[in-house]
Amino acid sequence: MIGILGFAALFFGRRFLPQPLVIALVLFWWALLVAVHAPIFPQPNTAANLFGGNFIAWLMLGALTAIVLAYRFGLQALRRRITDKLPQPDTTPAAFKPVELERYARHIMLREIGGAGQRRLKDASVLVIGAGGLGSPALMYLAASGVGRIGVVDPDVVENSNLQRQVIHTDDRIGMPKVHSAVAAMQALNPFLDLRAYARRLDAETGALIAEYDLILDGTDNFDTRYLVNRLCVAAGKPLIAAAITQWEGQISLYDPAHDGPCFECVFPNRPAPGMVPTCAEAGVAAPLPGVIGTMMAMEAVKHLTGAGQTLRGRLMIYDGLYADARVMTTKQREGCAVCGGGTAL
Ligand SMILES: [Zn+2]
Repeated sequence: MIGILGFAALFFGRRFLPQPLVIALVLFWWALLVAVHAPIFPQPNTAANLFGGNFIAWLMLGALTAIVLAYRFGLQALRRRITDKLPQPDTTPAAFKPVELERYARHIMLREIGGAGQRRLKDASVLVIGAGGLGSPALMYLAASGVGRIGVVDPDVVENSNLQRQVIHTDDRIGMPKVHSAVAAMQALNPFLDLRAYARRLDAETGALIAEYDLILDGTDNFDTRYLVNRLCVAAGKPLIAAAITQWEGQISLYDPAHDGPCFECVFPNRPAPGMVPTCAEAGVAAPLPGVIGTMMAMEAVKHLTGAGQTLRGRLMIYDGLYADARVMTTKQREGCAVCGGGTAL
Protein backbone atom coordinates (compact mmCIF):
# COMPACT_ATOMS: atom_id res chain seq x y z
CA MET A 1 0.00 0.00 0.00
CA ILE A 2 2.78 2.41 0.95
CA GLY A 3 4.43 1.46 -2.37
CA ILE A 4 1.51 2.87 -4.36
CA LEU A 5 1.23 5.91 -2.11
CA GLY A 6 4.93 6.69 -2.70
CA PHE A 7 4.43 6.74 -6.49
CA ALA A 8 1.31 8.88 -6.08
CA ALA A 9 3.22 11.39 -3.92
CA LEU A 10 5.97 11.59 -6.54
CA PHE A 11 3.38 11.98 -9.32
CA PHE A 12 1.79 15.00 -7.61
CA GLY A 13 5.07 16.41 -6.33
CA ARG A 14 6.86 16.19 -9.71
CA ARG A 15 6.13 19.78 -10.73
CA PHE A 16 7.80 21.17 -7.58
CA LEU A 17 11.04 19.22 -8.03
CA PRO A 18 13.61 19.22 -10.82
CA GLN A 19 12.94 16.48 -13.38
CA PRO A 20 16.22 14.52 -12.84
CA LEU A 21 15.49 14.35 -9.10
CA VAL A 22 11.97 13.02 -9.75
CA ILE A 23 13.35 10.35 -12.09
CA ALA A 24 16.00 9.40 -9.49
CA LEU A 25 13.38 9.20 -6.70
CA VAL A 26 11.04 7.04 -8.82
CA LEU A 27 13.88 4.67 -9.69
CA PHE A 28 14.99 4.54 -6.05
CA TRP A 29 11.44 3.85 -4.84
CA TRP A 30 10.92 1.14 -7.43
CA ALA A 31 14.28 -0.47 -6.64
CA LEU A 32 13.41 -0.41 -2.91
CA LEU A 33 10.04 -2.05 -3.53
CA VAL A 34 11.61 -4.77 -5.65
CA ALA A 35 14.39 -5.26 -3.12
CA VAL A 36 12.14 -5.73 -0.06
CA HIS A 37 10.20 -8.37 -1.96
CA ALA A 38 13.31 -10.04 -3.26
CA PRO A 39 13.37 -13.81 -2.63
CA ILE A 40 16.66 -13.46 -0.70
CA PHE A 41 14.57 -12.33 2.28
CA PRO A 42 12.23 -14.77 4.00
CA GLN A 43 8.77 -14.08 2.53
CA PRO A 44 6.48 -12.61 3.57
CA ASN A 45 8.53 -10.27 5.78
CA THR A 46 7.35 -7.20 7.68
CA ALA A 47 8.75 -4.63 5.22
CA ALA A 48 7.16 -6.40 2.25
CA ASN A 49 3.82 -6.44 4.01
CA LEU A 50 4.18 -2.77 4.83
CA PHE A 51 4.92 -1.70 1.25
CA GLY A 52 2.35 -4.01 -0.30
CA GLY A 53 2.40 -5.90 -3.58
CA ASN A 54 4.82 -8.70 -4.44
CA PHE A 55 8.17 -9.21 -6.14
CA ILE A 56 6.80 -10.29 -9.54
CA ALA A 57 4.18 -7.52 -9.63
CA TRP A 58 6.70 -4.73 -8.98
CA LEU A 59 9.20 -6.23 -11.40
CA MET A 60 6.50 -6.46 -14.09
CA LEU A 61 5.39 -2.88 -13.43
CA GLY A 62 8.98 -1.67 -13.86
CA ALA A 63 9.44 -3.64 -17.08
CA LEU A 64 6.13 -2.37 -18.48
CA THR A 65 7.01 1.25 -17.65
CA ALA A 66 10.44 0.82 -19.26
CA ILE A 67 8.80 -0.51 -22.47
CA VAL A 68 6.30 2.39 -22.60
CA LEU A 69 9.06 4.99 -22.07
CA ALA A 70 11.37 3.36 -24.63
CA TYR A 71 8.53 3.43 -27.17
CA ARG A 72 7.87 7.15 -26.45
CA PHE A 73 11.51 8.18 -26.72
CA GLY A 74 11.92 6.10 -29.89
CA LEU A 75 8.93 7.83 -31.45
CA GLN A 76 10.30 11.27 -30.51
CA ALA A 77 13.72 10.48 -31.97
CA LEU A 78 12.11 9.24 -35.21
CA ARG A 79 10.02 12.42 -35.45
CA ARG A 80 13.13 14.57 -34.95
CA ARG A 81 14.96 12.68 -37.70
CA ILE A 82 12.07 13.14 -40.14
CA THR A 83 11.75 16.85 -39.28
CA ASP A 84 15.49 17.35 -39.83
CA LYS A 85 15.21 15.83 -43.29
CA LEU A 86 12.26 18.01 -44.33
CA PRO A 87 13.09 21.24 -46.19
CA GLN A 88 13.68 23.83 -43.52
CA PRO A 89 10.91 26.41 -43.22
CA ASP A 90 11.66 29.74 -44.87
CA THR A 91 13.18 31.83 -42.11
CA THR A 92 13.47 35.03 -44.14
CA PRO A 93 10.34 36.66 -42.68
CA ALA A 94 12.09 36.61 -39.29
CA ALA A 95 12.93 40.27 -39.88
CA PHE A 96 9.20 41.08 -39.82
CA LYS A 97 7.34 41.93 -36.66
CA PRO A 98 4.26 39.72 -36.04
CA VAL A 99 2.01 42.65 -36.95
CA GLU A 100 3.82 42.96 -40.30
CA LEU A 101 3.47 39.24 -40.99
CA GLU A 102 -0.26 39.61 -40.42
CA ARG A 103 -0.36 42.70 -42.66
CA TYR A 104 1.40 40.94 -45.57
CA ALA A 105 -0.17 37.49 -45.01
CA ARG A 106 -2.04 37.53 -48.32
CA HIS A 107 1.18 38.31 -50.17
CA ILE A 108 3.19 35.70 -48.31
CA MET A 109 0.63 32.99 -49.15
CA LEU A 110 1.09 33.65 -52.88
CA ARG A 111 3.40 30.97 -54.30
CA GLU A 112 5.12 33.55 -56.54
CA ILE A 113 5.90 35.93 -53.65
CA GLY A 114 6.04 33.98 -50.37
CA GLY A 115 8.14 34.99 -47.37
CA ALA A 116 11.26 35.43 -49.49
CA GLY A 117 9.48 37.74 -51.96
CA GLN A 118 8.01 39.84 -49.16
CA ARG A 119 11.51 40.17 -47.71
CA ARG A 120 12.77 41.34 -51.13
CA LEU A 121 10.06 43.99 -51.15
CA LYS A 122 11.06 45.10 -47.67
CA ASP A 123 14.72 45.32 -48.70
CA ALA A 124 13.87 47.16 -51.94
CA SER A 125 13.85 50.87 -52.70
CA VAL A 126 11.71 52.53 -55.36
CA LEU A 127 11.84 56.14 -56.53
CA VAL A 128 8.62 57.51 -57.99
CA ILE A 129 8.95 60.60 -60.14
CA GLY A 130 5.73 62.55 -60.08
CA ALA A 131 3.08 62.45 -57.33
CA GLY A 132 0.25 63.13 -59.76
CA GLY A 133 -2.33 60.93 -61.46
CA LEU A 134 -0.02 57.95 -62.12
CA GLY A 135 2.07 58.48 -59.00
CA SER A 136 -0.98 58.46 -56.70
CA PRO A 137 -2.04 54.80 -57.10
CA ALA A 138 1.52 53.66 -57.78
CA LEU A 139 2.73 55.13 -54.47
CA MET A 140 -0.27 53.86 -52.50
CA TYR A 141 0.13 50.29 -53.76
CA LEU A 142 3.91 50.30 -53.34
CA ALA A 143 3.34 51.37 -49.72
CA ALA A 144 0.57 48.80 -49.21
CA SER A 145 2.77 46.09 -50.76
CA GLY A 146 5.51 46.75 -48.20
CA VAL A 147 8.29 48.21 -50.37
CA GLY A 148 10.79 49.13 -47.65
CA ARG A 149 12.00 52.50 -48.94
CA ILE A 150 9.92 54.73 -51.18
CA GLY A 151 11.10 58.10 -52.48
CA VAL A 152 8.86 60.58 -54.25
CA VAL A 153 9.97 63.53 -56.39
CA ASP A 154 7.62 66.37 -57.39
CA PRO A 155 8.04 70.15 -57.37
CA ASP A 156 4.31 71.03 -57.31
CA VAL A 157 1.73 71.75 -54.64
CA VAL A 158 -1.72 70.13 -54.44
CA GLU A 159 -4.33 72.03 -56.45
CA ASN A 160 -8.10 71.75 -56.54
CA SER A 161 -8.06 70.55 -60.18
CA ASN A 162 -5.70 67.66 -59.26
CA LEU A 163 -8.26 65.98 -57.03
CA GLN A 164 -10.35 64.68 -59.94
CA ARG A 165 -7.76 61.86 -60.37
CA GLN A 166 -4.79 62.32 -57.99
CA VAL A 167 -6.36 60.27 -55.23
CA ILE A 168 -3.36 60.25 -52.88
CA HIS A 169 -4.11 63.92 -52.06
CA THR A 170 -7.09 65.33 -50.18
CA ASP A 171 -9.12 68.52 -50.25
CA ASP A 172 -7.70 69.74 -46.94
CA ARG A 173 -4.14 69.37 -48.26
CA ILE A 174 -4.66 71.84 -51.15
CA GLY A 175 -1.60 74.13 -51.16
CA MET A 176 0.67 71.56 -49.51
CA PRO A 177 3.69 70.27 -51.49
CA LYS A 178 2.53 67.12 -53.26
CA VAL A 179 5.44 65.06 -51.93
CA HIS A 180 4.48 65.84 -48.32
CA SER A 181 0.82 65.11 -49.00
CA ALA A 182 1.81 61.79 -50.63
CA VAL A 183 4.11 60.81 -47.75
CA ALA A 184 1.34 61.65 -45.23
CA ALA A 185 -1.06 59.34 -47.09
CA MET A 186 1.46 56.50 -47.34
CA GLN A 187 2.46 56.90 -43.70
CA ALA A 188 -1.19 56.68 -42.68
CA LEU A 189 -1.58 53.50 -44.74
CA ASN A 190 1.64 51.75 -43.71
CA PRO A 191 3.79 53.06 -40.83
CA PHE A 192 6.51 50.39 -41.33
CA LEU A 193 8.24 52.10 -44.26
CA ASP A 194 11.09 54.53 -44.86
CA LEU A 195 9.43 57.32 -46.87
CA ARG A 196 11.41 60.17 -48.44
CA ALA A 197 10.02 63.34 -49.98
CA TYR A 198 11.95 65.40 -52.54
CA ALA A 199 10.06 68.62 -53.24
CA ARG A 200 11.95 69.51 -56.41
CA ARG A 201 11.95 68.96 -60.15
CA LEU A 202 14.00 66.04 -61.36
CA ASP A 203 16.77 67.52 -63.45
CA ALA A 204 20.35 66.68 -64.32
CA GLU A 205 21.47 67.98 -60.92
CA THR A 206 18.95 66.14 -58.75
CA GLY A 207 19.18 63.08 -61.02
CA ALA A 208 21.90 61.64 -58.77
CA LEU A 209 19.00 60.46 -56.58
CA ILE A 210 18.33 57.71 -59.09
CA ALA A 211 21.55 55.92 -58.11
CA GLU A 212 20.19 55.56 -54.56
CA TYR A 213 17.20 53.42 -55.61
CA ASP A 214 16.74 49.92 -57.06
CA LEU A 215 13.88 50.78 -59.39
CA ILE A 216 12.52 54.00 -60.87
CA LEU A 217 8.88 54.72 -61.74
CA ASP A 218 8.23 57.64 -64.02
CA GLY A 219 4.72 59.06 -64.03
CA THR A 220 5.54 62.58 -65.17
CA ASP A 221 3.57 64.22 -67.95
CA ASN A 222 6.23 66.15 -69.81
CA PHE A 223 8.57 64.84 -72.47
CA ASP A 224 11.68 66.66 -71.26
CA THR A 225 11.55 64.88 -67.90
CA ARG A 226 10.69 61.51 -69.45
CA TYR A 227 13.64 61.54 -71.86
CA LEU A 228 15.91 62.82 -69.10
CA VAL A 229 14.79 60.15 -66.62
CA ASN A 230 15.45 57.49 -69.26
CA ARG A 231 18.97 58.79 -69.88
CA LEU A 232 19.73 58.95 -66.14
CA CYS A 233 18.37 55.44 -65.56
CA VAL A 234 20.43 53.98 -68.43
CA ALA A 235 23.55 55.78 -67.16
CA ALA A 236 22.97 54.44 -63.63
CA GLY A 237 22.01 50.96 -64.90
CA LYS A 238 18.61 51.18 -63.18
CA PRO A 239 15.40 49.62 -64.50
CA LEU A 240 12.64 52.09 -65.33
CA ILE A 241 8.88 51.59 -65.37
CA ALA A 242 7.49 54.46 -67.41
CA ALA A 243 3.87 55.15 -68.25
CA ALA A 244 1.93 57.88 -69.96
CA ILE A 245 -1.74 58.73 -70.26
CA THR A 246 -3.96 61.06 -72.21
CA GLN A 247 -7.75 61.33 -72.40
CA TRP A 248 -8.84 57.63 -72.43
CA GLU A 249 -5.62 55.86 -73.37
CA GLY A 250 -2.51 54.86 -71.49
CA GLN A 251 0.69 52.96 -72.15
CA ILE A 252 3.23 51.32 -69.89
CA SER A 253 6.46 49.35 -70.18
CA LEU A 254 9.52 48.30 -68.20
CA TYR A 255 12.73 49.61 -69.75
CA ASP A 256 15.80 47.69 -68.67
CA PRO A 257 18.67 47.80 -71.19
CA ALA A 258 21.05 46.45 -68.53
CA HIS A 259 19.16 43.17 -68.97
CA ASP A 260 18.76 43.13 -72.76
CA GLY A 261 15.55 45.15 -72.87
CA PRO A 262 15.13 48.33 -74.86
CA CYS A 263 15.32 51.76 -73.25
CA PHE A 264 12.53 54.34 -73.57
CA GLU A 265 14.35 56.07 -76.41
CA CYS A 266 14.78 52.79 -78.33
CA VAL A 267 10.98 52.59 -78.47
CA PHE A 268 10.28 56.34 -78.83
CA PRO A 269 13.32 57.69 -80.68
CA ASN A 270 11.61 60.78 -82.00
CA ARG A 271 10.80 63.33 -79.38
CA PRO A 272 7.57 65.08 -80.35
CA ALA A 273 7.93 68.77 -81.15
CA PRO A 274 6.93 70.99 -78.24
CA GLY A 275 3.15 71.46 -78.19
CA MET A 276 2.43 68.57 -80.59
CA VAL A 277 1.24 66.15 -77.92
CA PRO A 278 -1.28 67.80 -75.62
CA THR A 279 -0.88 67.29 -71.87
CA CYS A 280 -3.72 66.17 -69.60
CA ALA A 281 -4.29 69.82 -68.71
CA GLU A 282 -4.82 70.62 -72.38
CA ALA A 283 -6.63 67.49 -73.61
CA GLY A 284 -8.39 66.21 -70.48
CA VAL A 285 -8.21 62.75 -68.88
CA ALA A 286 -10.81 60.29 -67.59
CA ALA A 287 -10.53 60.16 -63.78
CA PRO A 288 -10.00 56.39 -63.38
CA LEU A 289 -7.47 56.10 -66.26
CA PRO A 290 -4.39 57.07 -64.19
CA GLY A 291 -5.80 54.73 -61.52
CA VAL A 292 -5.65 51.80 -63.98
CA ILE A 293 -2.22 52.59 -65.43
CA GLY A 294 -0.64 53.78 -62.16
CA THR A 295 -1.81 50.55 -60.47
CA MET A 296 -0.24 48.59 -63.34
CA MET A 297 3.03 50.43 -62.59
CA ALA A 298 2.88 49.20 -58.98
CA MET A 299 2.00 45.69 -60.21
CA GLU A 300 4.99 45.63 -62.56
CA ALA A 301 7.20 46.96 -59.73
CA VAL A 302 6.08 44.16 -57.36
CA LYS A 303 6.72 41.54 -60.09
CA HIS A 304 10.10 42.99 -60.99
CA LEU A 305 11.24 43.18 -57.35
CA THR A 306 10.04 39.71 -56.34
CA GLY A 307 10.80 37.93 -59.62
CA ALA A 308 7.16 36.83 -59.99
CA GLY A 309 5.64 36.14 -63.39
CA GLN A 310 6.64 37.95 -66.57
CA THR A 311 7.20 41.68 -66.49
CA LEU A 312 6.67 44.17 -69.30
CA ARG A 313 10.40 44.20 -70.13
CA GLY A 314 10.55 44.17 -73.92
CA ARG A 315 6.80 44.65 -74.15
CA LEU A 316 4.64 47.76 -74.32
CA MET A 317 1.06 47.59 -73.10
CA ILE A 318 -1.46 50.02 -74.55
CA TYR A 319 -4.78 50.32 -72.73
CA ASP A 320 -7.78 51.97 -74.31
CA GLY A 321 -10.29 52.80 -71.60
CA LEU A 322 -12.92 54.16 -73.98
CA TYR A 323 -13.37 50.81 -75.75
CA ALA A 324 -12.12 48.60 -72.90
CA ASP A 325 -9.34 47.23 -75.06
CA ALA A 326 -5.71 46.38 -74.33
CA ARG A 327 -2.87 45.45 -76.66
CA VAL A 328 0.64 44.27 -75.90
CA MET A 329 3.39 44.91 -78.43
CA THR A 330 6.88 43.44 -78.43
CA THR A 331 9.63 46.05 -78.25
CA LYS A 332 13.30 45.63 -79.05
CA GLN A 333 16.54 47.46 -78.52
CA ARG A 334 17.12 49.83 -81.42
CA GLU A 335 20.43 49.40 -83.18
CA GLY A 336 22.54 52.49 -82.59
CA CYS A 337 20.26 53.99 -79.89
CA ALA A 338 21.93 57.20 -78.76
CA VAL A 339 21.13 56.42 -75.12
CA CYS A 340 21.63 52.71 -74.50
CA GLY A 341 23.61 51.75 -77.58
CA GLY A 342 20.92 49.29 -78.64
CA GLY A 343 22.94 46.19 -77.94
CA THR A 344 26.11 47.56 -79.54
CA ALA A 345 28.99 49.06 -77.58
CA LEU A 346 28.29 52.50 -76.22
ZN1 LIG B 1 17.92 52.66 -76.14
